[in-house]
Amino acid sequence: MILILLGPPGAGKGTQAQRLQDKHGLIQLSTGDMLRAAVAAGTEIGLEAKKVMDRGELVSDEIMTGIISDRLDQPDCKNGVILDGFPRTEAQAAALDEMLAAKGLVLDAVIEMKTDDDILVERITGRYTCATCGTGYHDIFLKPAVEGVCDKCGGTEFKRRSDDNADTVVSRLKAYHDQTAPLLPYYQGKGVLKQVDGMADIDVVTQEMEAALQSI
Ligand code: ADP
Ligand code: AMP
Repeated sequence: MILILLGPPGAGKGTQAQRLQDKHGLIQLSTGDMLRAAVAAGTEIGLEAKKVMDRGELVSDEIMTGIISDRLDQPDCKNGVILDGFPRTEAQAAALDEMLAAKGLVLDAVIEMKTDDDILVERITGRYTCATCGTGYHDIFLKPAVEGVCDKCGGTEFKRRSDDNADTVVSRLKAYHDQTAPLLPYYQGKGVLKQVDGMADIDVVTQEMEAALQSI
């Protein structure tokens, strides 16, 4: 199964992708995570991407499509993937269509996580992740059962993203509305678009995601 989660930064794509990965064995392909790994490793792509990410702008289509195409070829993707953060432009969507066709794969569904812009700053500035396993949390909306201890791996180190600040959110939201939102009518036209209410509580969104998956 090939699934795309589409929504602005903070809509809940990563949170729901982790849950779908755990439950259904689909692999979460987060292009943001891949870029952050490249930044941490100090690769050429990472160095180039960091400046763009810190401004809240989009990394080039060429780099992003190359990264995703290579990743899709890896054996763990054979059971299906959840694209989280890709495609983000019309050029990336067209490139994805081409690469799926070339690899003999079919896009099953695009799930839009609908959210109002005015809640996203609070979502993003409260976000943090386990430094060991990457499980996502929120200062208010999703705390670990025991404070300071990751529910999943027991890790006690957590990290926050350098681009998760109120200033960058404005540019990231603008990038979403200008460059990514036009993909909604594109996928609607292909008959693969589904929607969930991303404003609901996290567990309710998960239930809606499951219902959307059942309908595929
Ligand atoms: P995205 O991957 O779309 O940028 P995340 O999944 O990382 O967004 O969610 C952003 C933050 O908001 C995280 O800290 C997450 O715990 C929290 N969050 C996700 N979904 C919800 C929700 N439905 N209600 C409240 N908080 C949420
Ligand atoms: P995310 O983790 O999805 O919020 O992405 C963090 C940042 O990585 C974005 O603000 C962009 O700068 C960059 N990025 C991630 N995915 C893409 C993509 N598909 N195209 C362009 N830039 C991306």
